[in-house]
Amino acid sequence: MESRTKVGVIGAGAAGMAAAVTAAKYGAEVTLFEKNDRVGKKILATGNGRCNMGNLEFSEEKYYCQDREKLHSLFQVFSVWDTMSFFESMGLMIKSKEGYLYPYSEQASAVLDVLRMELDRKKIHVITEGEIKKAAYNADRMTFTLKDIKGKEYECDKLIVACGSPASLKKGEGMTGYALAEKFGHRVKEIVPGLVSLKSHEDFTKALSGVRVKAGVRLVVAGETAGRDVGEVQFTDYGISGIPVFQLSRTAAYALKEGKSVEAVVDFFPDQDEKTFTYMGRLRYEAQQDKSMEDYLTGMLHKKINMVLIKMAGLKPAMTAREAGWEKVKALMELGRNFGIAVSDVNSMDNAQVCAGGVDFSQLNTELESELVKGLYFAGEVVDVDGICGGYNLQWAWTSGYIAGRNAAGSSTRQIALGQEKYKELPEDKS
Ligand SMILES: Cc1cc2nc3c(=O)[nH]c(=O)nc-3n(C[C@H](O)[C@H](O)[C@H](O)COP(=O)(O)OP(=O)(O)OC[C@H]3O[C@@H](n4cnc5c(N)ncnc54)[C@H](O)[C@@H]3O)c2cc1C
Repeated sequence: MESRTKVGVIGAGAAGMAAAVTAAKYGAEVTLFEKNDRVGKKILATGNGRCNMGNLEFSEEKYYCQDREKLHSLFQVFSVWDTMSFFESMGLMIKSKEGYLYPYSEQASAVLDVLRMELDRKKIHVITEGEIKKAAYNADRMTFTLKDIKGKEYECDKLIVACGSPASLKKGEGMTGYALAEKFGHRVKEIVPGLVSLKSHEDFTKALSGVRVKAGVRLVVAGETAGRDVGEVQFTDYGISGIPVFQLSRTAAYALKEGKSVEAVVDFFPDQDEKTFTYMGRLRYEAQQDKSMEDYLTGMLHKKINMVLIKMAGLKPAMTAREAGWEKVKALMELGRNFGIAVSDVNSMDNAQVCAGGVDFSQLNTELESELVKGLYFAGEVVDVDGICGGYNLQWAWTSGYIAGRNAAGSSTRQIALGQEKYKELPEDKS
């Protein structure tokens, strides 16, 4: 009888579990090592406990990656439609909320539960509290030897490194994947927190603390616009947060590392076009000149924002709009459209949702196998691929896990997987 390929997977997160069940599906004998006392801990925290597991509005443009063409070919193999089919085949009902995919129950635990059941059903050997400390390639036998924290050794034919990143973990944790990659000769791009809030030393952030408002955010790096986004911005006592800020944070993090100046320019009127805004502003001024500046702004923006704008425009809350004069009132309104916040830092890695940087993508082939060590694969966040908010990071975990798992088991994914038409009729959830 032909012996089964032994696949070792380090890390039982989203990518590692997807890799393990896929490798087993394609006939491998799989051992999954997890340093925690249980698998998939991070999944439970995703999407505020609801797990935004993918997004129907999908393209490789949603990712930061060195080689979009290669990424595109990977998503051709396993796309968002395949994510749905993968989970539905394990019994998970999925729903779309304006394209954002969630388990039907809106409980992240449901995603983890079906994965755990599948690990069981596929008789995958799961070793929890099994932190792998060392891995070596045995060129003579073409196998890998893994050594865990207790000194116990394991041998496998193929190895998948899916150790994740230090994002959201305590300082010093989550670095093993990079260390193993370097040990095997791989380059690792400098890691920085991604999808994280921004810090500022500006006095007014404290005055605005607690404000949540729909706004546009433009990131300016060394005087040039480096990105923009719109959505709910939250002010905190240390700076700004919220999804649009998260989306721009990895660009800010790398720029700050390079010693460049970074500014977040907030537009408190993102729905107003420039011309109408100025025209309406003038009409408002004509009609409300007798009001104090404080009253004049009442009804436009959040009270805390109004007070900060008045102060920054060099006006006083009690002075009338007439006393201020149209030019100054106009300048104040413009300040509301271009409210610059000097960014001093990004929040720390333990507060980040993902990590930018990681194992050099160019040293992996389209099967996610190392170009340097045959039989070595990488999947998930440990690789230098990171997505914006909206389910794209888990999508990368599923896609890369599937591809690494299937190829490690000996079933090549060079051909394009099918399945796009089947799920187009997914009902929308309007709640
Ligand atoms: C608060 C929060 C919310 C998020 N929400 C979303 C969301 O809604 N949608 C989305 O797409 N993405 C979201 N993300 C990002 C997403 O969770 C991650 O990108 C994804 O889980 C990464 O999967 P992974 O398997 O690569 O890594 P991980 O999930 O980090 O898994 C790696 C595993 O490897 C284990 N491990 C590490 N080293 C070793 C070792 N040496 N030996 C054995 N085991 C080891 C770890 O303990 C861990 O279990 C969120 C992240 C956070 C922190």
